[in-house]
Amino acid sequence: MAEFTLDLNDDQKEVRDWLHGFAADVIRPAASEWDEREETPWPVIQEAAKVGIYSLDFYAQQFFDPTGLGIPMAMEELFWGDAGIALSIVGTGLAAVGVLANGTEEQIGTWIPQMYGDPGDVKVAAFCSSEPDAGSDVGAMRTRAVYDQAKDEWVLNGTKTWATNGGIANVHVVVAVVDPELGSRGHASFIVPPRTAGLSQGQKFKKHGIRASHTAEVVLEDVRVPGSCLLGGKEKLDARLARARERAGGGGGERGRNAAMATFEASRPAVGAMAVGTARAAYEVALDYAKTRTQFGRPIIDNQGIAFQLADMRTQIDAARLLVWRASWMATTGKPFTSAEGSMSKLYASETAKKVTAQAVQILGGNGFTREYPVERMHRDAAIYTIFEGTSEIQRLVIARTLSGMPIR
Ligand SMILES: Cc1cc2nc3c(=O)[nH]c(=O)nc-3n(C[C@H](O)[C@H](O)[C@H](O)COP(=O)(O)OP(=O)(O)OC[C@H]3O[C@@H](n4cnc5c(N)ncnc54)[C@H](O)[C@@H]3O)c2cc1C
Repeated sequence: MAEFTLDLNDDQKEVRDWLHGFAADVIRPAASEWDEREETPWPVIQEAAKVGIYSLDFYAQQFFDPTGLGIPMAMEELFWGDAGIALSIVGTGLAAVGVLANGTEEQIGTWIPQMYGDPGDVKVAAFCSSEPDAGSDVGAMRTRAVYDQAKDEWVLNGTKTWATNGGIANVHVVVAVVDPELGSRGHASFIVPPRTAGLSQGQKFKKHGIRASHTAEVVLEDVRVPGSCLLGGKEKLDARLARARERAGGGGGERGRNAAMATFEASRPAVGAMAVGTARAAYEVALDYAKTRTQFGRPIIDNQGIAFQLADMRTQIDAARLLVWRASWMATTGKPFTSAEGSMSKLYASETAKKVTAQAVQILGGNGFTREYPVERMHRDAAIYTIFEGTSEIQRLVIARTLSGMPIR
């Protein structure tokens, strides 16, 4: 088992520098254009696929890095480039993690390659859990999956919302209710293969930030998928449901792990790392600006009021990164999150990104408020981190419940 270390090995440093180069040379220069267009930056994804950054191999290499630092390091560098474009590049990863967390080896081998496509014909994937009435409250999910035994098919009906890449994805991973009596324990995840009849895109959202990333509703009307599209398989599902029914009298349905939560647990430190990338990018712009902008005959950083803000910004970014790396190392080495360390890392890093990007706007003065300078976009982008993959309030609930053992509401 890998010891926790802050020393990146030579391979990790090489990957980090390579990603940084891609973020600086390809992502950053395209950021403003795709933010304005509010469209998926297909040419940039294609470029990432050509050099091997948008691929199952690359993702798996980072995911299985025994130190746990591969994914957070990659996320930080790509999101340092630009959050909207980076989410378009890594959004497929959320669906891939859904399959890795719940799927059989055969399902992993069949579906993950179809999520990415190939450099000549790139594809994306979507993970669809949230619904109009089931955001933080995953237990309120209504999308139903009913088994048609005669045909060995599952029939899905419902409306998903806020799905990154929803409707434009080649493969959709859909979480649905298979047993409404069991609350969140009665959920299961399904693959909806390319071009399946009955799946359509609903509203595409016009957003405040990360505008290069496509976010939309996904409507499921009598969507029929083969039995083999149930992630993990029917036998495993039946056994899990039987256990949940046994415990149902004791209220285990509310507290149990469920398909969507398994995905979120694995991805929370990764979202923290995205936030660190955005915060670091804004901090660097603000530091440069403060050293070169002169007022009252001296650089504005000469004022403690500015210099101390920069000192706090950098301290908080480093603290956020440490929490993220610790959580990723714990997850990879199989250490249980006994103090909700995954949620802690996401909470602190996302709040830091919001605060630091707001300070960066202030340090740039009028320029910070314009689209001529990137901190305006970074500040809008940072707002997402305290919302998706569990809001800050939900992270605090998870942490408080874990620490106290009490059912805090
Ligand atoms: C750009 C974007 C991309 C997304 N991508 C995906 C995706 O790919 N797949 C997917 O499934 N989902 C996705 N989401 C959905 C996201 O995870 C949800 O928006 C999020 O979980 C919050 O749900 P909600 O929006 O319904 O807010 P609500 O749950 O309605 O929350 C509203 C407010 O109430 C607070 N609140 C709720 N319950 C409590 C409580 N018990 N205690 C204290 N405060 C509480 C919340 O913290 C929040 O401040 C995405 C969302 C966005 C905006």
